[in-house]
Amino acid sequence: MLNTKSEEKIAPVMSAYGRFPITIEKGKGSFVWDSAGIKYLDFTAGIAVLALGHVPDLVEAALKRQLDTLWHCSNLYHIAPQEELAGMLTELTCCDQVFFCNSGAEANEGAIKLARRYATLVLNKPEGHIVTFHHSFHGRTLATMTATAQEKIQKGFGPLVPGFKYLPFNDETSLGDVEADSECIAVMLEMVQGEGGVIPADKAWVQKLAAVCRDKGIPLIVDEVQTGMGRSGTLFAYEQYGIEPDILTVAKALGSGIPIGAFLAKKEISKLFTPGTHGSTFGGNPFSTAAGVATIKAFKELNVTETCMKNAAYLNTELDTLKEKYPSHITAIRGLGLLIGVETTAPAIDIVNQLREKHHVLILTAGKHVLRILPPLVTDEAEINIFIKAFDSVLKDL
Ligand SMILES: *Cc1c(COP(=O)(O)O)cnc(C)c1O
Repeated sequence: MLNTKSEEKIAPVMSAYGRFPITIEKGKGSFVWDSAGIKYLDFTAGIAVLALGHVPDLVEAALKRQLDTLWHCSNLYHIAPQEELAGMLTELTCCDQVFFCNSGAEANEGAIKLARRYATLVLNKPEGHIVTFHHSFHGRTLATMTATAQEKIQKGFGPLVPGFKYLPFNDETSLGDVEADSECIAVMLEMVQGEGGVIPADKAWVQKLAAVCRDKGIPLIVDEVQTGMGRSGTLFAYEQYGIEPDILTVAKALGSGIPIGAFLAKKEISKLFTPGTHGSTFGGNPFSTAAGVATIKAFKELNVTETCMKNAAYLNTELDTLKEKYPSHITAIRGLGLLIGVETTAPAIDIVNQLREKHHVLILTAGKHVLRILPPLVTDEAEINIFIKAFDSVLKDL
């Protein structure tokens, strides 16, 4: 019966994740230790969260200071680290204002609400829809799951939120479709589709898409939850595409592992969020924004984007060598910066498992036949060599 608690024992955490059979207990830099004391090279970086590696010294010191000062304060008052982080982010991007929240999905949810507000108050299209692209990933809340044009994410959770339309990614026909669509109120996309298989957007296509949005006067929303904060080799991937988003979302690496998200916008749009329109209890909390401030300071001090570019060049060269050595196992290598996808003929999960079990190296998948390699941006050649040697060995044994 649903209304009586059964005696049957079940794990207390819901099984929404397929978990690998180890418990991570400690991390430092590019390494983690499990509950049996085994050390692993972590080239997942908590799924693109740990740009600076585990427990980075500079952020740790700032957070220890913040722990002694103020943990939480509501947004009914000014919050100093929140305002400092907003100042840094607007200085470093093409946007004028920031709203802080707690996750990537919440950032995209807020971006969608802001675009709808602009559509209602400025475009006079309260019933319009937002265009997103096949294989995208924007989150797991109802609206962001609907924005995510992947049936496997949406299945069984209907009814979906109205107001979205899906078009093919990197496809010329999508440009004409957006252009001709009088009810399209915004376009939302990733510069590299991360979860969808590590698929970089085509530069010329993105530029034409941005031009279509500009001509129509509708906002271009760029989801940089995964590509942002240096992962692509520039602070934000859009910089390499020669475009300017009107709304930009960020989360994963912004707090070095402390939960934080944000959406940014140009002032013509952001000013529509007047008092009472949107909110989030923990959003912009002093602890998480202190982590964000310390993260951006550490980026400057450690030259993280340059380090990322250098590491990416080295890792790609080594991967190209493996592709030449094992042409029947590796069919493609793609990505941007240290967001790298390797297409394999063997199931990607088998390679992930062998790397972990036999070599104590952790990487991810992005679909059935794509390995996703996400080292901390501050990794180095010695660590990359550990990974390459292990990968070589696994490929040899396939
Ligand atoms: C991870 C991710 C999200 C969702 O972020 P959460 O913090 O898990 O809600 C949204 N968009 C992209 C591109 C992502 O990679």
